Amino acid sequence: MNIVYATSEVAPYSKSGGLADVSAALPHEMAKLGHNVLVFTPYYRCVKKLEPKARQIAQGFVPVGSDSIGWTLHAASTNSAAAKDRAQIYFIGCEQYYDRDGLYGTAKGDYDDSCQRYVLFSRACLAAVQSLALSVDVWHCHDWQTALIPIYLKLLFAKHPLLSGAATIFTIHNMGYQGLFWHWDWPLLNLPWKHYNWKEMEFHGKMNLLKGALIYSDALTTVSPTYASEIQTSAFGFGLEGVLQDRATDLTGIVNGIDENDWDPATDPLLPVAYLPSDLDGKAKCKIALRKRLGLPDDGSAVVGMIARLFEQKGFDLVASSLDDLMRRDIQLVILGTGREEFHRMLENVRQSHPEKVAVSFAFDNELAHLIEAGSDMYLMPSRYEPCGLNQLYSLKYGTPPIVHRVGGLADTVIDATPESIAAGTATGFQFDTYSARDMLAALDRALHLFKIEPAKWNKIQRTGMVQDWTWTVSAKKYVEVFKATRAKVTRSSN
Ligand code: ADP
Repeated sequence: MNIVYATSEVAPYSKSGGLADVSAALPHEMAKLGHNVLVFTPYYRCVKKLEPKARQIAQGFVPVGSDSIGWTLHAASTNSAAAKDRAQIYFIGCEQYYDRDGLYGTAKGDYDDSCQRYVLFSRACLAAVQSLALSVDVWHCHDWQTALIPIYLKLLFAKHPLLSGAATIFTIHNMGYQGLFWHWDWPLLNLPWKHYNWKEMEFHGKMNLLKGALIYSDALTTVSPTYASEIQTSAFGFGLEGVLQDRATDLTGIVNGIDENDWDPATDPLLPVAYLPSDLDGKAKCKIALRKRLGLPDDGSAVVGMIARLFEQKGFDLVASSLDDLMRRDIQLVILGTGREEFHRMLENVRQSHPEKVAVSFAFDNELAHLIEAGSDMYLMPSRYEPCGLNQLYSLKYGTPPIVHRVGGLADTVIDATPESIAAGTATGFQFDTYSARDMLAALDRALHLFKIEPAKWNKIQRTGMVQDWTWTVSAKKYVEVFKATRAKVTRSSN
């Protein structure tokens, strides 16, 4: 199949979260399965820094409201027609929208022209495949930034000689981000006003791009089976649960994988010392290196790591409300992340009052992220909701048992340590059911008890997690099954 994978971020070029990691791995896995996969992503300033001379292969203009805006198409220098098992990466350039410091905005918030930036991107992706004369079998779109692709294909190009007939699959990475804009932005889309209604793209008086994609895509996926069920309820659907219930039979949950070329403690070049499940000496050395780097003394405590966007979603309100209790425990807390100012302030205050117990880095630092995964004893991920989550998977691989709220992908990927699961050799971490400081602390205490008092059981939990297979191999096949079934359905209905 000819598959176009449209995404607003892809590592190592551009990254704000897990979507970038997924986009860096899944397209190549699908290429390995014999498909011709093209990845389209914006040519942001940070991408240009890594790929200053990406060869321009096409250009054109597309409408964004009443303006006609120029776009360019660039091939990544790593592309090679000979490498059949690699996806080809293409960048969509548009200086006025993408030549900026941030991907989506500044510390103050999203860019004012977010809508225009992704109207341009979606339009340019559709124009670019025409320039390449590519007959696309499957469009694989991700999150609201690419929501307009399935919408345009259905509403504007259903009879187009090249663009019609492709199947559109839309993957939801987070229902909390919907591409909501005030209704006066509607003309930017160049769609008839008749589609601005509550059954299509209107949502409580605003325009909602994600809603349009949920309605117009041929199939929907999200990044774990539990999240696929959760988002059909009012607790997790962010107001779109009804739309998702209507599409329940077209919605599949597929857990993300991890790319072991980047995330494997046995080969990770970002670690001072490598280690294997059978020999965790190197992990102890990574802990020493982590403490040294962050200026934490060796006080014999357990190092608890967290790497996350500093937002409520990631459970920082629970952390905030339990700081005193956390500080009374025999732990050191190591946190890497950026996000909401109030969480920065809260963490900075606790760091200042407990410099020997807390280290915080307000940065986006991939190298430190790897060291935290390796050098921590356990990993705290108390997310309020979590579509899939990658850090708990990295933690499993790095022998750093995760302590997680039992939601979404965390419920699907971590096996709670109970006397039975430990005895059976299946336990990999610690889960808590209720989103409360009390339950989170109880799960942490269970982990600390085993860590301190029952090291043999602790080691067993570490090793069980480390040898699990969370590579993309299985999940990529599931995506291909969805693509094939959807393609067959689309072909049948157009005949
Ligand atoms: P989300 O996509 O909701 O942010 P995930 O757990 O799916 O959460 O993925 C987050 C990804 O971003 C992981 O690869 C994680 O290591 C990385 N990450 C998040 N914050 C930082 C940071 N401050 N520095 C380095 N990497 C980070």
